[in-house]
Amino acid sequence: MIAPQLPTPAGPVPVFPSRKVVMPPVETTGAHVRRRRRGGLIVDLDDTLYPREQFVLGGLAAVARHIAGARAVSADAALTVLIDAYDGEERGRELQALCRRFDLPSDVIPELVTVFRGHRPSLWLRPGVVDTLQRLRRDGWRIVILTNGLPSVQSSKVAALEVARFVDGVLYAEQFALGGKPAPATFQAALAQLNLPARSCICVGDDPICDIRGGRGAGLRTIRISRSGVQVPSRHEADAVIDRFEDVPSAADALLNLVNVDVA
Ligand SMILES: [Mg+2]
Repeated sequence: MIAPQLPTPAGPVPVFPSRKVVMPPVETTGAHVRRRRRGGLIVDLDDTLYPREQFVLGGLAAVARHIAGARAVSADAALTVLIDAYDGEERGRELQALCRRFDLPSDVIPELVTVFRGHRPSLWLRPGVVDTLQRLRRDGWRIVILTNGLPSVQSSKVAALEVARFVDGVLYAEQFALGGKPAPATFQAALAQLNLPARSCICVGDDPICDIRGGRGAGLRTIRISRSGVQVPSRHEADAVIDRFEDVPSAADALLNLVNVDVA
């Protein structure tokens, strides 16, 4: 039987080598892997990824609404007193200022604290945070959020911010040590979650004690996001200080390179 003839192509016929194509082996060690799995970031939440003031103002508004529903006080008047206290010298004692102004018994305060902590927050990540987290993960960083505060409150913030999908884990520091950061056990838990050694990880946060001294005490390099009014003695300053979360990639790259030089 005669095989059918294919038409001859008009142009030159390409010549392929007869040898098999061998794919290069996938590297499991060495520079290739180091480049893709560069390290871990342990990132604070409040005042690092979003302004905590958003949560506070929402909580004070919830308290004002609550007190207006239970007492002969208008919500607007209550909120004005609460915000004046927050903006002034009574920050941290806003509920006491409210009780004093409207002659409320002080035993109402635990009830107001419950309202404040339990309110459903509306929060937004700082501009540029999502893009930066996505870029960091594309570059091979693994990211864990390590946050102080009551886990029930902090988890409501995480849910409102919808930030969990942009990181590799969220840890509530109070679950690992009383008071949370700066206790070393909290950072050890984050390192375990990252499955990386401290020398390959960097702590990012705004708090000079909880994040910077705590992170350093656990053997981490540190990046502080500066906040107005926060003064840090030079001996306790972070390895890098930046103004915006968007500067984390360049600062972290520089610090990890420094770590690699140190251990070489
Ligand atoms: Mg913070």
